[in-house]
Order: sequence, then structure tokens, then C-alpha cells
Amino acid sequence: MSSKNQYDAIVVGSGPNGLAAAITMQQQGLSVLLIEGKDTIGGGMRTQELTLPNYLHDVCSAIHPMALGSPFFSTLPLAQYGLEFIDAPIQAAHPFDDGSVAFLSRSIDETVNSLGLDGKRYRKLISPIVENWEELAQDTMGPLRFPQHPFLLAKFGLNAIQPASLLVKGFKTKAARGLWAGMSAHAIQPLSNWASSAIGLILSAVGHKHGWPIPKGGSQAIANALAAYFVALGGEIQTGNFVKKLDDLPSHKALLLDLTPKQILKIASEKLTSSYQKQLEKYRHGMGVFKVDWALDGSVPFTNELCGKAATVHLGNTFEEIAQNEKITSKGQHPEKPFVLLSQQSVFDQTRAPEGKHTVWAYCHVPNGSNKDMTTAIENQVERFAPGFKDRIIAKSTLNTQQLAAYNPNYIGGDINGGIIDLQQLYTRPTLSITPYRTSHPSIYICSSSTPPGGGVHGMCGYHAAKTALKDIFKIKLPHTITPHNDSN
Ligand SMILES: Cc1cc2nc3c(=O)[nH]c(=O)nc-3n(C[C@H](O)[C@H](O)[C@H](O)COP(=O)(O)OP(=O)(O)OC[C@H]3O[C@@H](n4cnc5c(N)ncnc54)[C@H](O)[C@@H]3O)c2cc1C
Repeated sequence: MSSKNQYDAIVVGSGPNGLAAAITMQQQGLSVLLIEGKDTIGGGMRTQELTLPNYLHDVCSAIHPMALGSPFFSTLPLAQYGLEFIDAPIQAAHPFDDGSVAFLSRSIDETVNSLGLDGKRYRKLISPIVENWEELAQDTMGPLRFPQHPFLLAKFGLNAIQPASLLVKGFKTKAARGLWAGMSAHAIQPLSNWASSAIGLILSAVGHKHGWPIPKGGSQAIANALAAYFVALGGEIQTGNFVKKLDDLPSHKALLLDLTPKQILKIASEKLTSSYQKQLEKYRHGMGVFKVDWALDGSVPFTNELCGKAATVHLGNTFEEIAQNEKITSKGQHPEKPFVLLSQQSVFDQTRAPEGKHTVWAYCHVPNGSNKDMTTAIENQVERFAPGFKDRIIAKSTLNTQQLAAYNPNYIGGDINGGIIDLQQLYTRPTLSITPYRTSHPSIYICSSSTPPGGGVHGMCGYHAAKTALKDIFKIKLPHTITPHNDSN
């Protein structure tokens, strides 16, 4: 039960965006209640013993370039609340069938040197983003508005708007092309889609700038640090309250929903105009994911030892193979050799598993709503680059798209980005509006990854939604630019 029956603001959903929204409101001295439907907080940042006791698995997110690249998180004193990031020697590795490996390391020089003939082109593409990330993040990680750094943004935009399959034409080597496929496939859409380069460019650049770290103890540590800071500011958290009707909530001046449009239609439709409801109904979701977590008897025996030094490994071989498999998945088929994103957290964080044992996290993309079991296909892909892997499995846990959506109703059909992030929905998510955080109801706001800038653990959707509500309802204007906290991570 909440302690009061009246709040300035209520936030429903404790994912990174719900927590970011709650913190932003609470920092202004308002009374804020954060409500979570499940018994624990965190949304896509939970860590649980999914397989065996003492094996800590990240249920959803595992790798956190965007948490470190987030302008809002960089303002928060999360290290003081127990958050510690671990950087692996290599950020992401990409093995090929011939035993060679392309990789993204923290040093751009090292990555450039490893890419041979394509090194120069890689540097030209990525280093302007690395050098200007703070400025670019202010302009790209939020709603569409007049940019503060128009020339930088225009330069970035000219590449970002391209299909990944077009941008790759500038690369000649298998290594650079494969690495690029793995980076841009995080967009979870065909690599021939316009703007499918945006996420690949950002993830590569942030990898050089901040790394692709894992939080010590699991992603839950990010949720716990955000929640502890929120409570220290005076905020209140209520878990185990799955909101079904808005009329059941304590009275409030502002309501921020860390929910996807489908859920908002379920619980808030009587408060919204019919034309706004129609816009929400048109919101589109992308491919889903099939997730596997393993407890292993030893680390993954990768053929190329460089893979063992990376927290993230992309398994899919060449650009052509990955592009083809993403394409057929987006058309509703299940590829025999799906692109697999794998994380081996326990190699770098000994808190994740008993001594000598390991936890491994992986997923592949599948058609939205698919209930096909992809465990064998994923395990075959790991075995392809790490013969003997299957012999090390001692337990496993799997989630198909329907089980993922049951676990967290924000994952509609297994879509982990809160809606496809394609050109049409990049900034007009969930509706065509200059301030898409507002709904048709003057006190209801959307703060989930279904608003700009979309999926990932960065809290920027929550921050911008709260900033809008503060201005509209409480007449509090936050500065245009976010200033990082000095003691942050
Ligand atoms: C398998 C998988 C792997 C991923 N990997 C990464 C990764 O490595 N790095 C990364 O940055 N991102 C990753 N993501 C994506 C990331 O987790 C999401 O983009 C992010 O969590 C979205 O945050 P959010 O705050 O918008 O919503 P969510 O995190 O989904 O939080 C929403 C919360 O609202 C609660 N809720 C829903 N309905 C109600 C209701 N009616 N009443 C009360 N509470 C409700 C839910 O229980 C949930 O806690 C991954 C996701 C998945 C599933």
C-alpha cells in the first residue's frame, strides 16, 4: 500500500525509464509514487537465479553501452548507491567460420589497426561520433527538436539515415563488413531498412567512448542504484501492484506511464480521445527475441581465444549471412543459423556463478509473436564458433516471445524495443507529435521506450517525459542541456 492517498506524480512501471522519470520529478521536491506490477523493481534490468542456485542471470538486458552513454544517467551519483561497471578487455568480438575474429575494443586505434584495409574508412565513420558524443547525445537521445549542434547532427545524420546494407559498401574486408553487420543488427530490423545504420554507428562509437560494460552483480544493480537514489531523494516505491484501472490509483496531478501503447489502451482508454486511441492502435512492433540462459561447467570454449576476452560476442559469420537471416526473420521465417548475441558475464564478474562455473546469456531475433523453440538453433550457432560448448551445459532456461511478454507485458510479441525503431517511428513514437510524451489527456504522459529515443537501458525517454510534465503541470523548466555529475561512473 502507498503511504498517502495524494501525490504530485505517479509513475507506473519501474523499468529504466520509469525510474528515470520518477527521479527527475522527485529531484524537484515533488511527492512521487513509483508503482511496479511485479514483486521486484527493474523492468528490463532484473537479475535472477534462472537456472540453478547461485547462478545469477540477467533476465533481459546484460550489456550497457547506453547506460554509460546516457546524458541523464551521467548526472546521477549511482556509484554512491553501489553501481560498479566492469569493462572486459574487448568490448565485442565477431568470429568467422575461418577462425578469424573482428573486434571492437575500447581503443579506436586498436580496432582500426585490426581492420587492415578498412581501418581508415572505419575511423572516418566512427571517430567524429566518438569525439563529439556528448554533444550528439544531447541532440539524438530525445525528441525531434531544433538541434543544439546542427552541423554535427547533420554530418551524423547523413550516415545514420542510410540502410546498413548501403553503408557497408564502403568496407571491403570480411572483418569490417561482419563487424558492421553485428553492430547494426542491434536495430532488430532488416539491414536494408532506411536508418538501420543509426544504432550500429552509435553502439560502435559509444563502445570506444565508454565501453560495453556489465554491471557487477548483474543488471539488477542498475535498477537497485536508481531506486536507492530515488528513495534517498524522498520518493516512494510500491511493488506487486499491477495497475488495471487508472481510477484505482491514489489522487495525483501527473501520471507517467512506463508502458507500451497496447497496454495504455487497455488501462487508460476511457481517459483518451478516440482520435488519439486510433493513433496508438496504429503503432507498430518489430521482430521479437528468443532468449536462452545457460549454467556452464566451464567457460565457452571459443576456437579463437580473442572471443574469450569479450563480454559480448556476435555470432552470425559474414555480413551477407547476417543480413539474409535478419531479412527472412522480418518476413516471418525462422532461420536455421540465426544471428546470436551472446554475453559471458561470469568470465569478468566472479559474483555471477560459483567458482569455476559460468553463466552465459544469449538471444536471437524471431518473428513477432513466434512460439518456436530456437534453443537448438542458438546452441548450434555457439557450437559452430566454440566446439565443445554443448558438453559444458549443466542447466538452461529459455523464454520464447510469448513467455517474454507474459514476464513483462511491455515486450509485445517479444519486441524488446517497445516498438520498431525504423525511420517512420524513430522520432514519431508512439504518435506523430513534436512532443510525443504527451497524450490526449492533459495529465497523462508516456515515458517508456515507446517514446524517443526508444529501446535500451538509458532512461532518456523517462527523463524527457518527466521534463515535459514538469513544464506543463508544475511550471518547472529544466535546463535545455543536461550537465553530467562529477562523481558519476
Ligand atoms: C532479452 C532482452 C535483452 C536485452 N538486452 C539489452 C541490453 O543488453 N542492453 C540494453 O541497453 N537493453 C537491452 N534490452 C532492452 C531493455 O531492457 C529495454 O529497452 C528497457 O528495459 C526498456 O525500459 P522501459 O523503462 O521503457 O520499460 P521496461 O524495462 O519494460 O519496464 C516496464 C516495467 O513496467 C512494469 N509494468 C508493466 N505493466 C504494468 C502495469 N500495468 N502496472 C504496473 N507495472 C507494470 C513491468 O513489470 C516493468 O517492470 C533487452 C531486453 C530484453 C528483453
